[in-house]
Formats: sequence, structure tokens, C-alpha cells
Amino acid sequence: MTRLEGKETSPDITAILGDLIAFESVSHRSNLDIVDYIGALLRKAGVPYRLIPNAAGDKASILATIGPVERPGIVLSAHTDVVPVEGQDWSSPPFAATLRDGRLYGRGSSDMKGFVASVLAYVPVFAASARAMPVHLALSYDEEIGCAGAPDLVAAVAALPMRPSLCIVGEPTGMRVAYAHKGKLARRVTVLGRGGHSALPHRAANAVEAAAAIACDLAALGAELRVVSNEAFDPPWSSVHVGSLHGGGALNLVPDRAVLEFEVRTLPGTDAADVIARIDAILQRARRRIREQAAEADVRVEEISAYPSLDTPADSAAVGAARELAASDAPPLTLAFGTEAGLYAEAGIPTVVCGPGDISRAHKADEWIGLDELAAAGRMMQRLADRASQVPQ
Ligand SMILES: [Zn+2]
Repeated sequence: MTRLEGKETSPDITAILGDLIAFESVSHRSNLDIVDYIGALLRKAGVPYRLIPNAAGDKASILATIGPVERPGIVLSAHTDVVPVEGQDWSSPPFAATLRDGRLYGRGSSDMKGFVASVLAYVPVFAASARAMPVHLALSYDEEIGCAGAPDLVAAVAALPMRPSLCIVGEPTGMRVAYAHKGKLARRVTVLGRGGHSALPHRAANAVEAAAAIACDLAALGAELRVVSNEAFDPPWSSVHVGSLHGGGALNLVPDRAVLEFEVRTLPGTDAADVIARIDAILQRARRRIREQAAEADVRVEEISAYPSLDTPADSAAVGAARELAASDAPPLTLAFGTEAGLYAEAGIPTVVCGPGDISRAHKADEWIGLDELAAAGRMMQRLADRASQVPQ
């Protein structure tokens, strides 16, 4: 690994990032090896931490508190998982950090191991300085498959002896402070009808037709929601999207099964529960209709992923504090992508998103982060360490 330029003693973010990238912490795999690595760094700095495992015991979140736990502190939140690389054409091995022209290439460099490395590099600095205010590290798993790992971790953070005053989710925003994003609900609907000969459709229950009717009803709901209501977002409305619909095998058979996947993205400040209730009504109506044709028919619904929107006021103290830490003069922004921030905000913790790198490089071949971007994240950590050492005026 090439080291960051600077003093011998300056925390070595790139070396840690190289180590982190080498763990193939793709969401479908166990993350316990990267958790062990992070745990070793924390132990070396004398920082206590606890693991919050999943039910299967093959993945865990990490929660560490550095400094006085009885005071309100600042949470640094990140996920340890990355998206797969299959089918992507990488110029260098995705799970080996490669430095070219001031950029460090590797899966997760921007999303979001660059931020994790910046945080970990400063753990010894936090340990030496956080006397007035604690710094909490909250590292999750399964973020990339719909924030599945975060709820237990968020609950543990919310249950700390003193509620944190700010949570910074370090997703890549080019170090700008983001205060809002949409919420999301994604579901899979399986329609189970009754098969039969196509000449006798009255004795069958056509699952493809029922699924198509659901798709039409969802599209109609989407059209109804299409009212400009928050110009800070593109699109400035809540949206409904049917992403797949599969069913049927042959023209001369009535299909007995169809599967449809859809998502809804809700604007902050809108009543997401109301949208979800209307979706539930569509699905109940579809179930009733197909059962009129065949009593054994059903419409089964699974949640693929769900997270709430983020809606921290742009002029709040939390946004102001985060902009100071990030030394960001740029106006706070909204995000087109979702994060775990909505979960922290829902738990009553003022939350923003701010981290190094660019989301447009995430999930793609040749994902990279600039050494200058990592250095900027390091400066943010140093400012946080300085702030944690002093009682605010
Ligand atoms: Zn991410």
C-alpha cells in the first residue's frame, strides 16, 4: 500500500482501507472476518465494543463508545457490506486496493469502506481526546440488501445511557451534508390461482391476469401520487414502480402462478403509512377477486426491503454541527438514494448523511475514491476529535 503523504504519525487511512477492501464482505456472505479485523483495531486502542449478531450468527454489527457514555455524543454510522462484482468488467482485482493517479480503486472504496477506514484510523485519536463527549461507532451489515441489519443496531444506539445529539451516516456525498432522502418499501407479490385448460378458463383462476390487474392498480396509484409536492427532490413526488412480472408457461394453459415485484419511494413529510395502506387495499382487493374464482387461491406478500425517509430540517443544529465538522460551505442537499439515516432519525436521533466519495461511482466496475477525499474525511475526524475533547461553550 502506498501511504498517505504527511507526518509519520498521521493516521494511515489508506493502509486500513486496503485491508478493508481485501475482505469480500458482499452482503450474501458472512461479515465476521471484517468484524474481527475491526474488533482487533478497537482492542488495540483500548476501546470497548459489543457485537450485535443476526439470528443465524453469521453476521454482526459493531457498536463501540469512545469517551464518557453518560454525555450526549456523536454517532459515526456506516455499513460493512458491499455489492457483488459479478458481471462487471474491472481493470484491477476488485478486492485488492489498487492506487493509480491519486485514486484508490476497489469494491467499497466509495460505498463506504473509505469512510469506515477514516473512522478506524482515528480511533486512537478519539481514544486520546474524547474526554468531554463520546464518539460512537455503529457499523452494520446487510445495508445493501435493504438496510436489513441496521434495526437492531439502531435500537442499541437509541438505548445508550444518553441519547446521541447527532448521527453522521458516512455514505458518499462528496463531504457535503445531506439532510433528507425518500423512504422506500419494496415487496414481492405471489399470486396463486388455479391452473386448467385454456378452453375452460371458467373452471380456473388466472394468476397472470390477477397479477396484471395488481400492476395496473399500482400504476394508477403512482399516477395519483404524481403531484409536485417537494421541489428539493427529483422527481418531486412519491413514486410507485413495478419492476418485474413473471407468470405463465404455455398459451393453452391457464397459469396458476405469477410473481410481481414493486417498490414505492415516499417523499419525506408525506404520510408513508397512508400510501402503504392504499397498497394493502389493492392487494386485498386482488385476493378477494381471485378467491371468488377459486377458494384456494391466494395473494401472498413478502417484504423485500423497507426503510423510512430522512427529513432532518436543513436549518437544524444537527445540520449546522455536521457542516462545521465537514468544513462544508456548500448548501445542505437532498439525496436520490436511501440510507440507514432514516432509521436513526426515526429513533429520535438527529441524523445527516456526509462522507467521502461519490455515489455515482458506487456499485460499478472500477469504483474508486480519491486520496484527497480520504484526507478530507480524515480532517473531519480530527475536527470531531478536537470537539470531543472540549466541553462546548
Ligand atoms: Zn452505502
